[in-house]
Amino acid sequence: MKYISTRGLPSQDRTPRGFSDILLEGLAPDGGLYLPASYPRIDAATLASWRGLPYAELAFRILSLYIDDIPAADLKRLCEATYTEQTFGTPQITPLKRLDDGLYLEALSNGPTLAFKDMAMQLLGNLFEYELARRGEELNILGATSGDTGSAAEYAMRGKQGVRVFMLSPQGRMSPFQQAQMFSLQDANIHNIAIEGVFDDCQDIVKAVSNDLEFKRRHRIGTVNSINWARLLAQVVYYFAGYFQATSGRVQATPERVSFAVPSGNFGNICAGHVARSMGLPIERLVLATNENNVLDEFFRTGTYRVRSSAETHETSSPSMDISKASNFERFVFDLLGRDAERTRELFGATLAREGGFTLASDEFAPATRVDGFGFASGSSTHADRLATIREAWNRWHTMVDTHTADGLKVAREHLQPGVPMIVLETALPAKFAATIVEALGLQPEPPPALRGIETLPRRSTLMAADAEAVKQYIEVHCR
Ligand SMILES: *Cc1c(COP(=O)(O)O)cnc(C)c1O
Repeated sequence: MKYISTRGLPSQDRTPRGFSDILLEGLAPDGGLYLPASYPRIDAATLASWRGLPYAELAFRILSLYIDDIPAADLKRLCEATYTEQTFGTPQITPLKRLDDGLYLEALSNGPTLAFKDMAMQLLGNLFEYELARRGEELNILGATSGDTGSAAEYAMRGKQGVRVFMLSPQGRMSPFQQAQMFSLQDANIHNIAIEGVFDDCQDIVKAVSNDLEFKRRHRIGTVNSINWARLLAQVVYYFAGYFQATSGRVQATPERVSFAVPSGNFGNICAGHVARSMGLPIERLVLATNENNVLDEFFRTGTYRVRSSAETHETSSPSMDISKASNFERFVFDLLGRDAERTRELFGATLAREGGFTLASDEFAPATRVDGFGFASGSSTHADRLATIREAWNRWHTMVDTHTADGLKVAREHLQPGVPMIVLETALPAKFAATIVEALGLQPEPPPALRGIETLPRRSTLMAADAEAVKQYIEVHCR
């Protein structure tokens, strides 16, 4: 499988790239995002043959379709080393919980940092270590986080050979538990940098550094943000795993269909759903849920994508979805536009820079929300909705959901259809966002035993202004 950029790459730089090239690369040199040259189609017989496979084996089958430059035996071993009961708490890895008739919760947050990002990041840690050893290279990972990405990356990379992590986070904006998780790591290859600003300032610094190609090459800068294709690919697997658990497997003329509801921020998680659907997984609707930061909900209602400023970005009680622009969204728009790289480059390059957003023509936008098109639906949620949903889930189903999952559940219930199971992706455990759970239920959510008392551990972090040059200097000094 070869990979292409959503912006077409300049003509002098059209060397086809394999998976292991883009694994370590992040953004494409033209500023676009990498996607496979095509999506492999899964026919009904193959789909049926995957039912019942252990998660690691399912992951191996799916990844194999996109990775042909890692020997199969090695890829299989990496999948098996990643998706273990020991790391993810259950043999199913992403067990499904039934809430109501046709309404399910898929648990994606039983990994080391209690958020779904572990699902991809744990694999990425193993892939990076493998690939760097194979090439005899080192990598300095530069990332931006509003909380969950950073801790997931650090727990995946800590102590790994040949890898250092430089993680930017907005000073004072993460939950106390998230801060404790990240800043308590004492591993020498982990650097926490707290930035005076919001998440998008952090993300802008990462982009600025990545766009300095000379610096990037000289210091072997890589990324683990959700723009990394390998992360997205790893996430495709649990859409299949959820599908198999929610459907019976009875032989029918047309395969059963399910819908997924996805608490969304940077459009990484739901973009993996879009890939799964494009491969032929029978997904009826991909229901996108936002919080008060409703950039994406607005797009799917209107066809207008309007990036918000830092000042317009709300600080909410589902903070991992507090984004003003969605870094993976370009991938979907590229597909929506029939993979027209020129039009994508115009929209996400010049038009966005000039006008702060764009509106698609109605014939361009129409397939986005049609079931015979891309199948998206959307909705948004407020703090009051979040509290009400957390209470209702607790009272009706004795289930404690975190604030992000609550946003997904709220919007999912607005899109239920008879005969189509709805799977809500649980993106974090309640213990990560305890304050809102206490507000809703008057109960303190308990973290798993291994993480109790983490708030009292000693911390390591460096405070810096939102200045890309200063961050570059810090990396110069600490990257050897
Ligand atoms: C990252 C995150 C999200 C948003 O996922 P995207 O892939 O950025 O859309 C939602 N919920 C939680 C808990 C997260 O950590």
